[in-house]
Amino acid sequence: MKIKFLGTGTSHGVPLVNCGCHTCTSTDPKNTRYRSSVWVHDNGVDIIIDTPAEFRLRTLEYKIPKIDAILMTHAHADHIAGLDDIRIYNEIQSGPVPLYLDEKTREEILSRYSYIFKETQEGGGKPKLLLEGIEHGNVFSIKGIRIEPLKVRHGGLEITGFLINNKFAYITDCSFMPDETLAAIKGVKVLVLNALRHKPHPTHFNLDEAIAAAKRSGAITSYFTHIAHALEHNITEKELPLGIKMAYDGLEIEI
Ligand SMILES: [Zn+2]
Ligand SMILES: [Zn+2]
Ligand SMILES: [Zn+2]
Repeated sequence: MKIKFLGTGTSHGVPLVNCGCHTCTSTDPKNTRYRSSVWVHDNGVDIIIDTPAEFRLRTLEYKIPKIDAILMTHAHADHIAGLDDIRIYNEIQSGPVPLYLDEKTREEILSRYSYIFKETQEGGGKPKLLLEGIEHGNVFSIKGIRIEPLKVRHGGLEITGFLINNKFAYITDCSFMPDETLAAIKGVKVLVLNALRHKPHPTHFNLDEAIAAAKRSGAITSYFTHIAHALEHNITEKELPLGIKMAYDGLEIEI
């Protein structure tokens, strides 16, 4: 299984507009972060988790050949703003792209992307999506790839993480990990988890909370994503315990 990070930034992206801080003015490409998303490639199957605003730029840069399915964690703008750009894959694949989402996310997508689901003039075309409902803990499969949706708390919201083929877990925008999710990912080979900044935040793990959750999970290797400019890549990585790393845009890992 190959994982490629399409973006590792928090909702503003990094650099922040007009910010003169050390991270935002860094020339190290690891400090440039698009909004968070990953491409999972396993056994010829291509799965994208979340479609942020920069999604199209990454499909060009990394030459993503096709999309067998999109998994959506939740409907905040930084995770869905690029959804319209799947239109080209409808053309390439001559058909709809399946979009897997929990009930709350489905309601949000139906309302915020209402034009997709209405009879309107086609013009430049509209995304063709096959909405597939999912529930936490109910395992399903995409062309032989096992997917387990995980319950994740994001402030007062309940959102979704994913465990793929029992060896890769992707959890972003988490502020609290329920016991059943910790149990499901126990000892997973690779965990991707959000770590925002040093200061506490009401709806996201800060660095200490993310480290504690990564340790509790027993994951062999954890990578942090959804990172704000407060965390400079190299300085932060030096502070991390063994087995925990900072992800960065373009990072590719084999599991
Ligand atoms: Zn987010
Ligand atoms: Zn900054
Ligand atoms: Zn969010």
